[in-house]
Amino acid sequence: MNISEKIFSLRKKLHDHNYRYYVLDDPLISDYDFDMMLKELEKLEKENPEHFDINSPTQRVGGDITKSFNTSVHGTPMYSLDNSYSLEDLKEWEKRIKKIIDSPVEYTCELKFDGVSINLTYKDGELLRAVTRGDGVKGDDVTSNVKTIPTVPLKLRENITGEFEARGEIVMPLDGFNQLNKKRLENGEEPFKNPRNTASGSLKLQDSKEVSERPLECLLYSVEDPKLFNNHIQFLENAKSFGFNIYDNYKCSSSLDEIFEFIEYWEKNRLNLPFEIDGVVLKVNDFYQREALGFTSKFPRWAMAYKFKPENTGTRLNSISFQVGRTGSITPVANLEPVNLAGTIVKRASLHNADFIETMDIRIGDYVYVEKGGDIIPKITNVDISKRSLDSEKFEFPEYCPECGSKLHRFEGEANHYCLNYNGCKPQIIGRIQHYISRKALDIEGLGQETVALLVNANLIKNYSDLYELKFDQIVGLERMAEKSANNLITGILDSKNIPFERVLYGLGIRYVGETVAKKLAKHFENIDNILNSDFDELISVDEIGEKIANSIIEFSQNSENVEIINSLKSHNIQFEIDDSNKNVSSILVRKSFVISGVFANFSRDELKKLIESNGGKISSSISSKTTYLVAGSNMGPSKKEKAEKLNIKIISETELSNLISGQNLLF
Ligand code: AMP
Ligand code: ZN
Repeated sequence: MNISEKIFSLRKKLHDHNYRYYVLDDPLISDYDFDMMLKELEKLEKENPEHFDINSPTQRVGGDITKSFNTSVHGTPMYSLDNSYSLEDLKEWEKRIKKIIDSPVEYTCELKFDGVSINLTYKDGELLRAVTRGDGVKGDDVTSNVKTIPTVPLKLRENITGEFEARGEIVMPLDGFNQLNKKRLENGEEPFKNPRNTASGSLKLQDSKEVSERPLECLLYSVEDPKLFNNHIQFLENAKSFGFNIYDNYKCSSSLDEIFEFIEYWEKNRLNLPFEIDGVVLKVNDFYQREALGFTSKFPRWAMAYKFKPENTGTRLNSISFQVGRTGSITPVANLEPVNLAGTIVKRASLHNADFIETMDIRIGDYVYVEKGGDIIPKITNVDISKRSLDSEKFEFPEYCPECGSKLHRFEGEANHYCLNYNGCKPQIIGRIQHYISRKALDIEGLGQETVALLVNANLIKNYSDLYELKFDQIVGLERMAEKSANNLITGILDSKNIPFERVLYGLGIRYVGETVAKKLAKHFENIDNILNSDFDELISVDEIGEKIANSIIEFSQNSENVEIINSLKSHNIQFEIDDSNKNVSSILVRKSFVISGVFANFSRDELKKLIESNGGKISSSISSKTTYLVAGSNMGPSKKEKAEKLNIKIISETELSNLISGQNLLF
């Protein structure tokens, strides 16, 4: 087999295995074998750039950056669906249909997936474009992001010449959503509110690499080509053999009673599905009949959405309490009279912030309605004012921290109140130390989250550097602290002195500095002093560091108590510098700053970054007067090019970069 045959055969195999895994749920090979095959293909493609294929399985990993999405007009408009809420509504709908069609009508029933709609254009069997619904006529071209979703076929499994549009819904399954939020919480980031918004936000991310890490799934519900099928059931039954992902629970019937059974079944069982649905979609099965029915200005006459009512119940709001987070943010929580909702007992609901309480005029003692969709946290949707007692008073958001009594502050543009008593407010102190010792930070074995609270409450520690002053005698004898556990604790604390700088930096708990940001900062600045002494401009020039993060770092370093704590940590030999063994292979690019743009034949973007950094160069995400070189691949954004030219910044190719590094350059 020659190289090109080898590449084609690997691509075909990988497309097949991907399809078996994601669409058929019937894998033939292990994940490991799949990865090995993919690696092999990546290597061959890199060595033979003339065989580049935009729809190769290797292209799913992402890497393209889109600054602003191009608008694209849909081949046929993407209509919305008419809504119904009862069997009566459906009977009315059928009557309207029967006025136009006198032959028997069959209806298909499908789940109404709660995500974002997507319009996929295929040309000669290959994915050409993926566009959001937008205003129905035109949407945003999000192809490079959608390509990372494994259930979107890049190549169809049947040869179909010409162009057609396929439509579906991109959802984030609940398992993946919950895992993503778990990770965010561990990183000190706000959790996402619900899977639908997260799915739609994910499609608009600029970095497709980040999208590839979001657990998204595409469920197809139509193909806009009358030549391919005669009716909807035929489409549903055959779409899988094209390579499309179809959810199997659909039904076809001409009896409204049977259809209503389907609806009632899924209304009851929807919480058992792996993703969220908000109803059922009914469609006339036969395409000739559809044509006869046509469209109103807003929706097809041949389709109808039946929307579920979210699970909902009423109960009494007994009191409101406040949680103080480790960053000082105050979250009001409703304490409810316990009530059964969708199979679980609900006692608490988030009230989000002061505005939420104010807008809904929620008062203590009110009879409120609580709703639970697929969301994990129940929410208050309504207040029954008729049940309000006469002496009820408007709820006043506290002015002072319920934990430490200091005055609360609300930053401009932020919905939350904050307690600014950074070093004197107990839940903040405890929360910060708990974060410091957590697994991804200093990972102190033998010290649990509850023990931290115990130590703070016993006045033995008041910040994380105090941990290193703890003596065996002080802790032995505390609740559940026998000699052995006290010993383990002390050893665990000592061991944390070996934890690398980037994790220490993350452990400091600077607001918005999560795991990834800490890594970037550590790499760029190399030690803590460089970070704490850097100014705003320098901070935002670092790849992925924005204004919010920069300001938060500056705020942290201007707090003298923080500086003292850091000095004390230094005196205990905590790692505040990156490890020398990871340092550079050469320093040929020192003091040179690079921006990378476009697609490269010989390197992935990550490899290019590594190459530059390991030779002492710095990477920035945007061009400024401080940029030395713009490394340009194919398909580079025109705005980047323009900016570089305007600022007189040298534009070089990947080959020129390699030459620069190997010393054969004439550019310096
Ligand atoms: P709406 O946004 O309420 O007007 O509902 C229309 C949207 O429902 C469409 O744009 C699709 O994105 C979505 N939808 C979800 N599941 C289906 C389905 N099985 N068939 C058609 N549309 C669906
Ligand atoms: Zn406080």
